[in-house]
Amino acid sequence: MGKVIALANQKGGVGKTTTAINLAASLAVMEKRVLVIDADPQANTTSGLGLSIDGAGIYDILIGFKNVKDVVKKCPCVDGLDIIPSSIDLAGAESELLNIEKGANRLRMAIEEIKDNYDFILIDCSPSLGLITINALNAADSVIIPVQSEYFALEGLGKLLNTIKIIKSKYNPELSIEGFVMTMYDPRQKLANQVVNDVKSHFGDLVFNTIIQRNVRLAEAPSFGLPALLYDAESKGAKLYIALANEVISRN
Ligand code: ATP
Ligand code: MG
Repeated sequence: MGKVIALANQKGGVGKTTTAINLAASLAVMEKRVLVIDADPQANTTSGLGLSIDGAGIYDILIGFKNVKDVVKKCPCVDGLDIIPSSIDLAGAESELLNIEKGANRLRMAIEEIKDNYDFILIDCSPSLGLITINALNAADSVIIPVQSEYFALEGLGKLLNTIKIIKSKYNPELSIEGFVMTMYDPRQKLANQVVNDVKSHFGDLVFNTIIQRNVRLAEAPSFGLPALLYDAESKGAKLYIALANEVISRN
């Protein structure tokens, strides 16, 4: 039965999507069966893996027009990696979900039907905590929290942890924190080390040992519709996400 992991942080631009794309691709090349679900109307995971943002996708399963099995696509670039795409339409789902019965649990119900087909199901969340993100956290077994290695990193984490607490008490008591992953680390910046140490002293072993460094290949690859390991397999970024995938596998 697949482990469902949401990539979440209400802070924008911290590396949620970059982690979703590259962790999913790394797990898939390590022979795991992986599904990535793009739960963000920005649809960056969808386009970053070379898929069209105009087709059927998560919107259709949230609002109930389509069966989940009809919206799963094969990733064009990586064997063993499937994707449920996003689309611009998804933004409208926030208000539509309010009028739907079990509107906060639509994604969980859809995932139940296909969970057995995968080892890992990763959900890329948007930075806003609307009903779509609540759907993702309700469907998840655990959360990976990307944290940018910069001064304001800890700000907002309290809010996120509180959100997770509320989701646990209201809907999903089993939800756990898989780990914090430090992203966009620049070893030349003195402050970056300070931030990593602060996060480690707060969260201890929950912080992954792998620290994702700032690497230009990670920023370039999505415009070619590729994960870093196919865009430049020798890049630091590709190697760090393989190391993170190894840690995720060994934690499970
Ligand atoms: P949002 O909250 O808008 O969904 P996000 O948390 O998904 O953002 P990303 O889109 O993954 O964040 O990253 C923000 C920007 O930083 C992107 O342009 C991405 O290419 C770049 N980026 C992310 N991680 C790295 C890295 N390790 N090295 C270099 N650039 C990176
Ligand atoms: Mg994103």
